[in-house]
Amino acid sequence: MNESKKNVGRASPTRGDLSGRRFGKLEVICRSDKRGSRGARTVPLWECRCDCGNTVYKATDTLNRSPNSMCSACAADYASSQMRAAAGYVDGTQISRIKSEHLIASNTSGARGVYKDRVTGKWRARLKFKGKLMDFGTYTDFEDAVRARKEAEQTYYGEFLDSLPSE
Ligand SMILES: [Zn+2]
Repeated sequence: MNESKKNVGRASPTRGDLSGRRFGKLEVICRSDKRGSRGARTVPLWECRCDCGNTVYKATDTLNRSPNSMCSACAADYASSQMRAAAGYVDGTQISRIKSEHLIASNTSGARGVYKDRVTGKWRARLKFKGKLMDFGTYTDFEDAVRARKEAEQTYYGEFLDSLPSE
């Protein structure tokens, strides 16, 4: 453990050998016999193991340039999670929307998620969470439906919001 720790950081003192060094999710295993091209010349490629288990081959300059190296599968995952995060999504749920619903439902109007059933003329409480629309009953009384919806919110959103890192 200490052995590899000592190798983490800047350019290796032992001339060019990156074995055991870590760059982001990649750990350099050994120098491979593969070569990468740099214009007219070729450079040696290091066999690296990604934290996800994939093996990739990288040149020294690439590794040194990107301290957050990862395999292409992890990079794709990372890119899409970044995009979702930018759009305010966590775990398939759009946080900004939840937060605003949370707010609206906590104030006096409170009718978010309560619908009148056209067939029965009764009130239905519904909640969309993680892409799933859930039903929380049908009520004659509008207020009862609002209450059911609020309870559902506390149960689902409350826990979910608590589980998020604070901003
Ligand atoms: Zn990976």
